[in-house]
This record gives sequence, C-alpha cells and structure tokens, in this order.
Amino acid sequence: MEKIVNLCKNRGFVYPGSEIYGGLSNSWDYGPLGVEFKNNVKRAWWKKFVQESPYNVGLDSAILMNPQVWVASGHVGGFSDPLMDCKDCKTRHRADKLIEDATGEIADGWSNEQMYDYIKEHGITCPECGSANFTEIRKFNLMFKTFQGVTEDAKSEIYLRPETAQGIFVNFMNIQRTTRKKVPFGVAQVGKSFRNEITPGNFIFRIREFEQMELEFFCKPDTDLEWFQYWRSFCENWLLTLGMAKDNMRLRDHAKEELSFYSKATTDIEYLFPFGWGELWGIADRTNYDLSRHAECSGKALDYFDPETNERYVPYVVEPSLGADRVALAFLCDAYDEEVVGTDAKGKEDVRVVMRLHPALAPFKACVLPLSKKLAEGAGKIYESLSKEFMVDYDDAGSIGKRYRRQDEIGTPVCITYDFDSETDGCVTVRDRDTMEQERIPVSSLGDYLKAKLAF
Ligand code: ATP
Repeated sequence: MEKIVNLCKNRGFVYPGSEIYGGLSNSWDYGPLGVEFKNNVKRAWWKKFVQESPYNVGLDSAILMNPQVWVASGHVGGFSDPLMDCKDCKTRHRADKLIEDATGEIADGWSNEQMYDYIKEHGITCPECGSANFTEIRKFNLMFKTFQGVTEDAKSEIYLRPETAQGIFVNFMNIQRTTRKKVPFGVAQVGKSFRNEITPGNFIFRIREFEQMELEFFCKPDTDLEWFQYWRSFCENWLLTLGMAKDNMRLRDHAKEELSFYSKATTDIEYLFPFGWGELWGIADRTNYDLSRHAECSGKALDYFDPETNERYVPYVVEPSLGADRVALAFLCDAYDEEVVGTDAKGKEDVRVVMRLHPALAPFKACVLPLSKKLAEGAGKIYESLSKEFMVDYDDAGSIGKRYRRQDEIGTPVCITYDFDSETDGCVTVRDRDTMEQERIPVSSLGDYLKAKLAF
C-alpha cells in the first residue's frame, strides 16, 4: 500500500489535501494524472451504465436538498455509526468495525447494547493500546451540516448529501414524464457525497468527501429479484471487462439478519486490498421503500401506470452503488506490478514498476518520444494530431529506456518512438507496455491502433 501511495504522490495521481498547511486529515487531491484516471473510471462506468444501456438515463442533481428529503429517507433518524472511545488512549472506534476486525462477525443491524455486550464477552481490546476499557456506545450521525442563507439558525440548517441516490428518487416523476420511459428503466448519477466518517483511512478507501456512481433501477414489483441478479452480474462483468483480477474479487451475499428491514437481497462486491477485503460495490434490492417514503412525506404520488397491464403501482428499486474513489484505488492496487526484466552488469536484478491499467483507464493513452531533440518537428506533429482525439504525453528528456520506464510506471499502454528513419519512411516504433514488444507501423495507422487498444 505504501508503494502505491508513494507512487500516487510522486507521479501526480493523488496528493495529500491542503498539504502546505499541514494537511487536512484524510482529504486528498487528485493531481494531473489522477484527474485523468478518475475521469476515465467515471467515463467507463457511464459508457456501460448509460451510453450503451437500453434501459438507463442520466441525471446530475444538486448536492444541497430540502432537509425533508433526509427525514423521509431515514438519514436524519438513522444514518449513524456506533461510536465508542477507548478510555485509556482516547482513540475513537466504530464499535461494529472493532467487532468485525477482531472476530470477523458482521454486526450490521445490531443494537448498541448487543455490540457492547459482545465486545465485553469476547474480550475485544483497543487495537491502539490493548485496553479493554471502553466508553458506552453512542450514535453519531454521519451527515455534514451547513447553513443556507445569512442566518445560522435551525431553520436554515441543511445537509451535504451523504449519497446521490435521493436526488434520483425525488426526480422520479420528472424523469419518467420527460423521457416517457417505460418501467423497467434506470437512472444513473455520478457525483460528490459527504460523510463525516468516524474512522476514515486507508488512503482513498474511506474518505469524508467522495464520489459515488449510483444506479436506481425501477422495475415492476415481483420482478425485482430477477433484476437484482441481472445487475449483480452486470456489475461484476464491468470490473472484469476492465481487467480486474477475478481472484481479487468476491461477491458476498448478505444473510437475512444482516439485510436492512426494507431490503429483499443485498450483495457486496468486495476487493482484496493490500489491507484486506473491503466493500467496493453495494448492490441492493430496496423494494419500493424509497419511493413510498417520499410519496408519504411529500404528499405527492410517486407511482407508475403500466400501459401494458393497466395497473398502477409504486416501482421496486434495485440499486448498485459504487464509490469512484474506492474503485479507482482497487484498479490501482490491481494494476501495480513489479517485474524483473534482467540483471545489470553487477548481477543486480533490474526491476521495472509497471501499472497494468486497462488502456481505457490509463491517464495517457500513448506517449510520443523523439529519439533525438533534433526530431522535435516530426514528433511534435504526431503529438499534435493524436492529442485531438486522445490524451497523449510527449517526452524528450533522458535516455529512451528511462522514458519507457517513466511511462510504464504511470500505465501508459503505448510508447511511440520517432527516429531518423521516420523522417523518410513515415513509420514509427510502437512499444507495448505489458509485453515490451516493439513493432514498426505507419504514422497514418496510429489512430486506429490506439482505438483498438481502448475498446472494452
Ligand atoms: P462502508 O460499510 O464501507 O462504510 P457503506 O455500506 O456505508 O460502506 P454504502 O452506503 O452502501 O456504503 O455506499 C455505497 C458505496 O459508496 C460503497 O460501496 C463505497 O464504494 C462508497 N463509499 C461509501 N462510503 C465511502 C467513503 N467514506 N469513502 C469512499 N467511498 C465510500
């Protein structure tokens, strides 16, 4: 993990937030390569979940919403984590995480008392100092509050959204009416969410300001479990198509006791991070809970008239919810590789660091390298023409071998070397990041060559 964090910082993927002021704990800024990479992750999601989907449409709703939304959704009353302090070293803990880390037991849906008793009975101690001396467990609401307008009183109090989903639910009627979509259809959204996490950490795995990519898929009652299965494998395939190793993924179905009271089925797609298995993607059959609650609290009907069966019903919802930062981290961990490529004169192993990112996710699709600075004009023309279509880099500093290595480390799938022969034969040497194999191809075919690599 440390290697990945260092690479991210040194190569401009992710910097610690507000660094010159000593930072702000667990806040991170995406640098020049990071913003390209994360945009590519979001684009890859949008491509499969919206652009190529016969069912889904997109939305970009506001972060700030009427506070009643969060009352109806249950977030004001129940979006809290069980907080517990160590009396000796004063470290804050999430009681459910303490239990899970110590025993593997998932404490979702347990009462505070149940958790407290379990911790005592199993002799669970503070991971920081080893003490078993804990405070009571209290509920800590994870929503960030702020004020709208000039007065800071309870009336002007609003929340930063803790998930993007509610913006979709409150727009259900608008979207259905304006798109004239028939159920089943889905609404997809990518955007910032905020949670005042008690125990953020593990780099960009758990942060307080993060991005989500959520789909709310509306379907006819009693077809929900079928659609749940459909989206469950659709999500898994999305990860596999983008090159994630199957061995580093597992699908964990929630047991009956673990399910939210309104959910008929939930599966977490988990990824084996360097610090252990962690939830990547939550896929839940949420029944008609959300639309019914909003209908009840707003007094507006949120139902659907099915022209085929002449029935009126509140659609059921299947929700796959994915964190953009979290899946970006998973892709980085999955792609990171160190490969021994030979030995130097003294017999020391020559190790290259290579990010085997899917080309669609790589920040740069190619890098143009003039063999000599004298070739700047011809190489520059290639760079200029490719950059109209692709994010490409240009590097003329240092030996060609060093330049290849720099690109390997940031995951650039192709290096294009322009040499003296290129001036006369109109060809360049392309070098593949993964195999390091080189071939000579005409400059005129570079566009198609790159396009083929990016397809997924
Ligand atoms: P966890 O148990 O890890 O706190 P959760 O079950 O609360 O997650 P959901 O509310 O289901 O998470 O959110 C859906 C997805 O949003 C998660 O699977 C994760 O990818 C992402 N996500 C949630 N909280 C965070 C966070 N603090 N930082 C980064 N990503 C997050």
